[in-house]
Amino acid sequence: QTIHLKDYTPFGYEIESVHLTFRLAPGATRVISKIAFAPTPAAADKRFFLHGEELKLLSAKIDGAEITPRMVEGGLEADVPDVPFTWEAEVEIAPESNTALEGLYMSNGMYCTQCEAEGFRKITFYPDRPDVMAVFTVRIEGDLPVLLSNGNPVTKGDGFAEWHDPWPKPSYLFALVAGELINHPGFFTTKSGREVELNIWVRPGDEGKCAFGMQALKDSMKWDEDTYGREYDLDIFNIVAVDDFNMGAMENKGLNIFNSSCVLASKETSTDANFERIEGIIAHEYFHNWTGNRITCRDWFQLCLKEGLTVYRDQMFSGDMRSHAVKRIEEVLTLRARQFREDNGPLAHPVRPESFVEINNFYTATVYEKGAEIIGMLRRLVGDEDYKKGCELYFARHDGQAVTIEDWLKAFEDATGRDLAHFKQWYSQAGTPRLKMSETWEDGTLTLSFSQSTPPTPGQSEKKPQLIPIAVGLIGPNGDEVVPTTVLEMTEAEQSFTFEGLGARPVASVLRDFSAPVILEREIDAKTRAFLLAHDTDPFQKWEMGRTLAKDTLLAMIVKGTDPSHAYLDAIKSVVTDESLDPAFRALSLGLPSQDDLAQSLHDAGIIPNPQKIYEARESLRHILSDHLREVIPALYAENDAGAFTPDAEGSGKRSLRLAILALLSLRDEGVTARALYKRADNMTEQAGALQALLAAGHGKEELAAFAERWKDDRLVMDKWFMMQVAAAAPDRAATVAKSLSEHADFTMKNPNRFRAVFGALAGNHAGFHHESGAAYRLLADQLITLDALNPQTTARMSGAFETWKRYDADRQQLIRAELERILATPGLSRDTTEMVTRILSA
Ligand code: ZN
Repeated sequence: QTIHLKDYTPFGYEIESVHLTFRLAPGATRVISKIAFAPTPAAADKRFFLHGEELKLLSAKIDGAEITPRMVEGGLEADVPDVPFTWEAEVEIAPESNTALEGLYMSNGMYCTQCEAEGFRKITFYPDRPDVMAVFTVRIEGDLPVLLSNGNPVTKGDGFAEWHDPWPKPSYLFALVAGELINHPGFFTTKSGREVELNIWVRPGDEGKCAFGMQALKDSMKWDEDTYGREYDLDIFNIVAVDDFNMGAMENKGLNIFNSSCVLASKETSTDANFERIEGIIAHEYFHNWTGNRITCRDWFQLCLKEGLTVYRDQMFSGDMRSHAVKRIEEVLTLRARQFREDNGPLAHPVRPESFVEINNFYTATVYEKGAEIIGMLRRLVGDEDYKKGCELYFARHDGQAVTIEDWLKAFEDATGRDLAHFKQWYSQAGTPRLKMSETWEDGTLTLSFSQSTPPTPGQSEKKPQLIPIAVGLIGPNGDEVVPTTVLEMTEAEQSFTFEGLGARPVASVLRDFSAPVILEREIDAKTRAFLLAHDTDPFQKWEMGRTLAKDTLLAMIVKGTDPSHAYLDAIKSVVTDESLDPAFRALSLGLPSQDDLAQSLHDAGIIPNPQKIYEARESLRHILSDHLREVIPALYAENDAGAFTPDAEGSGKRSLRLAILALLSLRDEGVTARALYKRADNMTEQAGALQALLAAGHGKEELAAFAERWKDDRLVMDKWFMMQVAAAAPDRAATVAKSLSEHADFTMKNPNRFRAVFGALAGNHAGFHHESGAAYRLLADQLITLDALNPQTTARMSGAFETWKRYDADRQQLIRAELERILATPGLSRDTTEMVTRILSA
């Protein structure tokens, strides 16, 4: 059944209060609800419908009198008075057998919940929609020492606890946790003097991994006050780490629940990338308190309203905490790897979709990451000051409401006087615009001519021009910047912009800071690129020039069998050895485009990608780079020893450069240096980095065994052990390696992190996944069919591994089609997976 945005109708009742009592028992938990409803006089739709799924209804009452509701598809209906009334119900649920990890479930003996988007209906009968906001009081009864819910604690006694959340909230923000947990405490005083108790709750044994997350939380609270004027609004803020979790984390009011991989950190067990991600996710969930919770979404089509904005906010926070230049490059890397890939395949959809079957399938890179790019473009268009005014009006006007993208944009129109009608199209038109640029030079005038077009996407064959902010700067022939960054606003299909009164012909630096989520196609030779790589003042474009040189080099190697250009090799050499540059930036410049990225570029150029050839070209370029840099490698390796581990930008930058150098060195020294680092490393970044360098150079067997022996009791570190082996497997070995790891005693499908470690890595091993035998396709399909019966959400998400199938040759397409059809033919296949596979197949 498909749900459409255009069919939105408000619920006909308001909720004055909600009282919930939980009597916890693994196999039979009782949930007793008492809800005060009042009909909305103006409502057109008077139907009293409560969502409910997989609930055993034991009793229902209206104003104290027992009733028998009509059980209907997805819930129940009842005849109710046209004046305020009280609804009471008692239901039974079985958290212990809930393997879908949605609703109330158990993870290693601890009770926890995940309600977004529509999990609350698996807890009790309720209008489970974000536009119904209510004040909740919760009583938890159970013989576990820690009993948590949203809001502030009211009372706690032997075997029970009560919580009250004074802020009206939709049901998707409800949370409950019960278990034998230990807290890492903290404290924060808000700018207006509210004293807030902070806690990170973990399983015994993990207490030593909370300090970093706690600091990130305090930094986030401070940042939101300083930057957006947003203050925390309860007496307590709890975070709980859970091992079994479908996503990264969840912003439940006052009780954030985290996948343990996104909060637990220690230098021994976490890499620099882990630390950075944890800091960003803690901030993200905390920032949701205003962008998501205090102001929420009217319906799930508006998901980007809270997610795009909150991702944008966490990105800016991370940039402030670390380095904006490095952060922006990393953002563009993920945007291209995940969102452009999605936008260019059968799963393409608008940032605000118009219909869905299962909303969980729309927690996508498009909604999150492209949603964040839209906020960034908006800010660039209106300027920093007006951006601030717009946000302030939005917070003032809509606090306590469930709103839409229209409301968000209206706040900006009213605050700035700007018409955002054309800009709004970014929310409704799917697909990545192709932006072509050519230039002419005459009498001191440089003319940049652009044309834009967006390829068709499912359900949208005709595309209109987008409003594209193009940030441009000009660099003079001697390397000085002659025109600083200016934002050109392109609104037409074709448009030219001129820069007049220039002395000598400058080189244009175009799409600075990646000012719009588009693919720029520009006629530019390798020499000009190398010039910008050396002189551009915009760090993103400086990096981008190296990246496009590397890409062109690889594409030429793949298609024409040519040797890599010296322009590229020499330019990279001067960047990596330029000590005036941030080591993190130098490490990023050394990176090569991924195999998947190359496959997409070949496809865009009308060439059918051959995964094996792509793999070989990339391997060959790694060897050539290693050879070309051989004289500078020893010094780079020696100079970039970060010393004692600190998880900040400086230390992490040095380690990333050093490890990138080590990966090249390992191709030439039989792994001697990496083996030595592996032995000496006192932190996971270097330990895992050394092991990966060894594996990528065909060594590391002993170290892999030692690693497992050392970390066999640490689930998160063992995820890395599983993942690294599949990621490093040669194309013809990847499926075999993944298969045998799936038979390992420590493998379990029930833990999404472990499943993703093996099968996410298989899907990410491009040449291995697309090996001509089809073995990996078959293996993944087998696994997805089994997993679907347990956990539809994770299955549906992982089926996205097949979304690029139309790029490849007829034989591969035939193999993939057969697997997708086999999945679809599975009796009882979930709605989640059915929707995804159907969309992928309909390409
Ligand atoms: Zn979010």
